[in-house]
Amino acid sequence: MATFQLGDLPVEVVHKNIKNVHLSVYPPSGKVKVSAPLHMELETIRVFVISKLSWIKKQQKKLKNQKREAPRDYIERESHYYQGKRYQLKVIENQNKSRVELNHKYLTLYVRPESDLQKRQDILNQWYREQLKQQIPKLIDQYEKLMDVDVAEFGVKRMKTKWGTCNPEARRIWVNLELAKKPPECLEYIVVHEMLHLLEASHNNRFTNLMDLFLPKWRLYKDELNRLPVRHELWRY
Ligand SMILES: [Zn+2]
Repeated sequence: MATFQLGDLPVEVVHKNIKNVHLSVYPPSGKVKVSAPLHMELETIRVFVISKLSWIKKQQKKLKNQKREAPRDYIERESHYYQGKRYQLKVIENQNKSRVELNHKYLTLYVRPESDLQKRQDILNQWYREQLKQQIPKLIDQYEKLMDVDVAEFGVKRMKTKWGTCNPEARRIWVNLELAKKPPECLEYIVVHEMLHLLEASHNNRFTNLMDLFLPKWRLYKDELNRLPVRHELWRY
């Protein structure tokens, strides 16, 4: 790995066996990383990054704003999301087992009176996880038949920079817990994308063609997700 400095902006460079240059801005701090083909010179990369400076600044600003919105206090009337819809939080304190209830406008959190912010967050995250664990097997079933693949295992976890991952050898896919908050098509898109790695490991033309075949509107869903890390891909060799 190499690093160079553009004014006050540090840029990390990793040379890999790839064809295209990838420039990524990573949350939470807006760190800039470049993946470059093996023989590409640092000077060429520097020129490329300079040409993308305004884009980088824009992405960093976006991340900063997102960060400001993110923290939740788990108090009455706060906005929380489920399947792309906004709900108002209601908190009801009682001595029963904690649970979450959803109706057309409200997401109701039943908690013990002594529950702190962390506890409330855990309860809601656990609920999100349960919802995904019910929804994902249906999608896997549906696409296993269409794609003629077999998923051995799936899991849901919190990930900072990815919506999903796939380990093709173990035939295991992971889905980001945050997807519970996004529209159902976004979850579908990620599940299909990760399952497709069982047929094709890299994001090449074949991958794109298969994506078009199995989920023709995937680009729309991808845009909707406003993927993080935000990524910019430049020229082809
Ligand atoms: Zn992928």
